[in-house]
Amino acid sequence: MVFESRRGIGKVSKSPRKSKGTSYRGNAARRNSFPGTFFKSLLIALAIGLFILLGAGIYGFNMIKGLPEVDKIAVNIPNETTKIYSADNVLLADLHKEENRVVVHLSDISQNLKTALVAMEDSRFYRHHGIDIRAIFRALSKDIIKRKAVEGASTLTQQLARNVFLTKEKTLSRKLGEIVLAFQIERKYTKEEIMEMYLNQVYWGHNAYGIESASQLYFGKHASNLSLAESAMLVGLLKGPEIYSPYKDMNAAKERQESVLGRLITLGYITEAQGAEGLNQPIVLAGLKKVQYRAPYFTSYVIDQLIRMLGENEVYSSGMKVYTTLDYQLQQYAENAVQRAIDRVGRTSSANFSEAALLSINPRTGYILGMVGGKDYLNSEFNRATQSYRQPGSAFKPFAYLSALDRGLSPGTVMDDSAVTYNTYDGAYVPQNYDKQYSGSMPLRRALELSKNVVAVKISDLIGANSIIDTAKNLGINSKLQNILSLPLGACEVSMMEMAYAYGVLANRGIKTKPISIFRIEDRNGIEIYRNRVETSHVFNENMVNVLVDMMKGVILNGTGRGAALPRPMAGKTGTTSDYKDAWFIGFVPQMVTSTWVGNDNNTPMNNVTGGGVPAKIWRDYMKNALQNIPVMDFPKPKDLIPVKICWDSGLKATEYCRTDRVSVEKFWKDKVPDDYCNVHFAKKNGNAKPGVNWLDEFFGENNNNEMSEPEPQEPTTNREDMDQPE
Ligand SMILES: [Zn+2]
Repeated sequence: MVFESRRGIGKVSKSPRKSKGTSYRGNAARRNSFPGTFFKSLLIALAIGLFILLGAGIYGFNMIKGLPEVDKIAVNIPNETTKIYSADNVLLADLHKEENRVVVHLSDISQNLKTALVAMEDSRFYRHHGIDIRAIFRALSKDIIKRKAVEGASTLTQQLARNVFLTKEKTLSRKLGEIVLAFQIERKYTKEEIMEMYLNQVYWGHNAYGIESASQLYFGKHASNLSLAESAMLVGLLKGPEIYSPYKDMNAAKERQESVLGRLITLGYITEAQGAEGLNQPIVLAGLKKVQYRAPYFTSYVIDQLIRMLGENEVYSSGMKVYTTLDYQLQQYAENAVQRAIDRVGRTSSANFSEAALLSINPRTGYILGMVGGKDYLNSEFNRATQSYRQPGSAFKPFAYLSALDRGLSPGTVMDDSAVTYNTYDGAYVPQNYDKQYSGSMPLRRALELSKNVVAVKISDLIGANSIIDTAKNLGINSKLQNILSLPLGACEVSMMEMAYAYGVLANRGIKTKPISIFRIEDRNGIEIYRNRVETSHVFNENMVNVLVDMMKGVILNGTGRGAALPRPMAGKTGTTSDYKDAWFIGFVPQMVTSTWVGNDNNTPMNNVTGGGVPAKIWRDYMKNALQNIPVMDFPKPKDLIPVKICWDSGLKATEYCRTDRVSVEKFWKDKVPDDYCNVHFAKKNGNAKPGVNWLDEFFGENNNNEMSEPEPQEPTTNREDMDQPE
């Protein structure tokens, strides 16, 4: 009797449907023998029993109440476009979720595609009531064995319910909700209507929703004209359009196509000959038209932040207006400067670099004014201004010099650029200048201008790498920095954003301002829902920073950064890493800090490209235009410094006996002014006239005031290196 009733239920499930889609029924599926029917009926009965239990669970969890009305499928829920603007009101991007959706009637869709879809996704589509009990049972038993979440076995109706109403998360309650909705959809709509809705909303990758958009996207044709080969490939993609897209991986797409054609053969919809023909037919892709943003690296950077703040759905469908900090005019100067360098130097000469980046920020507000993350966004979306971590080389040195100033060293303090060996845990360490030469003693000011590695390492040894790490962290470097002697040489990897952030503190008198890209956001009704506030903190002694900036002005005036010079006060630093893998220039005026970089993504060494070369030229090219309407302004004059004419060979006060080419006026902290006179140069004819080593003078603090009779200071020339030498 139980057996009878079960049969009864089984029969009900096979009752005729309002659908006329039975032509898809495969011949093989109709062949039933008695034992097969008996076994199937048993399975169905078991599955139904299970389903009733699940159904009870649904009511138990009060799920039904939470489920949406299936009537809403037919309603076209409007998605509003989110717009992103630059600070000067240029539209950078339109964002809308269903950017590419063209709704077509079922009759305008190739029969090849409809057949392939049913064969692959839901071969019993025209016979079930919204769920395929056998498939579920099969999947459930598999899942129990594999102890995995319920997956697979979804009918087209269930997929429609899920895509339209439910989130993608794999929970049991979602699965049950999907089943209930699928039943409701089946009650309300015909199989044709369900198929049409399904094909118009399903996601086919590359922001294409629905079959017509997908046909246009992949093959440049209407859905009505899809061949068997194309249809099989499209249906194959449904398993994971982002993975199997022929634009991403043609081999993977062909494998999916083959498996769909195989399924069609198995079900008897096509012959083996037809399948082979479809597989061999060449696939001609229409070519991907990427979504074009203006200032694409910056705009993508903004979109990433918006998604993190508000979630993807909100960003793409809520019709917000996002006002950014980008100055589109400056952005164009930046893009042109980078492009010119790539075109003129990177490609046409033996310089051998293929990528460049630029980032420009207002150090007072933190507003990102311009961002170029690479030479061609369509070719590579990787943002070298924000996502790339590379060695800054000598562009890191200012942090060491700032620490040194803070520890009481003066810009005029003389240190010896000479061979030195350090015994470290890793063995002997002998720092080298990039030109492998030593230039003898020189004031710190000059060592920074010429970017002497040996002096930077000696500073590190003198004050401790930890103090340099503290300074760098304070200024905004967040990347991991190693406590090693060679830290100032910039071997620890950092991002361009961090470097521009830290240099911004130097430009802004010790005040740190967080870089921002989104100024404010309005919702679709024009109500402000977000406004970025400028966050500042005073992180370093203002005068100390001004002293460093004063030294960094020299880098552009007489140092390795001369290629960046413009006729206004500016400061900066070059950076070149070992084997010419990276070349940087980071420089600033009080109102703008800009970083440039050139190199290769795969770290291929460039051919003698230094920070003072191409990066300084890109920087100058950009800044020349960008600063046109920004008033000329000098940095604050450093205080508490006393100018003293010193001899470089002794580091002491110069006398008339010192070599004029080894004498210059340097600045000292007022309590660190050298008291003594040069003890290297003295009158050879008069052995007594050996100033500076007069121990009695020193002891009693006496001064013989002959400073006025000394020769006029001159900029020393013997230490002038070839400025094109790497540093
Ligand atoms: Zn001297």
